[in-house]
Amino acid sequence: MAPHAENTPVAVVTGGARGIGLAIAHWFLDHGQRVALLDIDGETLAATERALADSGRVLAIVCDVADPAQVRPAIEQVAARFGRIDALVNNAGIAVFKPIGETTHEEWARVLAVNLDGPFICTQACTPHMLKAGGGAVVNIASISGLRASTLRAAYGTSKAALMHLTRQQAVELGNVGIRVNAIAPGPVDTAMAKAVHTPAIRAAYHEAIPLARYGTPEEIAAAVGFLCSPQAAYINGQVLAVDGGFDAAGIGLPALRQLQAG
Ligand code: NDP
Repeated sequence: MAPHAENTPVAVVTGGARGIGLAIAHWFLDHGQRVALLDIDGETLAATERALADSGRVLAIVCDVADPAQVRPAIEQVAARFGRIDALVNNAGIAVFKPIGETTHEEWARVLAVNLDGPFICTQACTPHMLKAGGGAVVNIASISGLRASTLRAAYGTSKAALMHLTRQQAVELGNVGIRVNAIAPGPVDTAMAKAVHTPAIRAAYHEAIPLARYGTPEEIAAAVGFLCSPQAAYINGQVLAVDGGFDAAGIGLPALRQLQAG
């Protein structure tokens, strides 16, 4: 494998073993960059690393983003191996969809730990390396569940809403030192996570509620992330971009009203 120039940009993608995170990793690789994948699922991560078959540009590290004692050495390993960090995509996330009364405190705490503490911890660990590289970009993967409330999502929706505010806090403070921070709020995307929590009835209801009448693809989310990390987005800081087929815009997009239009 040919060595890569020291100035080839490096992106850290958490939850990069599969799903949206893997599509984001592909975006960076397709654009000539190097990628570090951090994931808690060692088996899937190893399979992904083998499939990518690009040891010169890909580094895979098993890491729980909610644990600072694992994140710090993982990020140091990325910096030692690649010599720089330019972008961080806080994508690792978990979903527990249950009524409030059935959500245990342990489930609540774990969802908050992974979806909110994780981005805080990882951004803090990457910041000194981005500063050494002359600046950087962070993208936090939130959700439409953080934009609009729903049943069964007290923990998940709250974690994602808090992540959007953390995005603004980070953007204001880190923007001063040349690190831009933005968030993407994806609508439903066909991944293992969605398959686990979306029944056929939920899928049909999403198709009804989304103006584009379909799920998004991991590649469509990745393209938006890549844009926000690119020089084309050099003046975008502290924003939440919904990549959701128009779901968030459709405040009173009632299916009955849409049927009137169709009729
Ligand atoms: P997946 O569950 O398919 O992939 C997430 C990956 O992150 C898995 O490999 C998972 O491992 C890993 N992961 C989970 N917890 C941790 C942790 N503590 N530390 C490191 N890695 C971890 O999810 P998606 O690709 O669907 O989702 C990616 C992001 O997009 C999430 O933040 C999610 O909330 C968000 N999102 C997804 C939507 C969707 O419809 N799919 C919609 C809106 C937002 P393991 O398998 O062991 O859990």
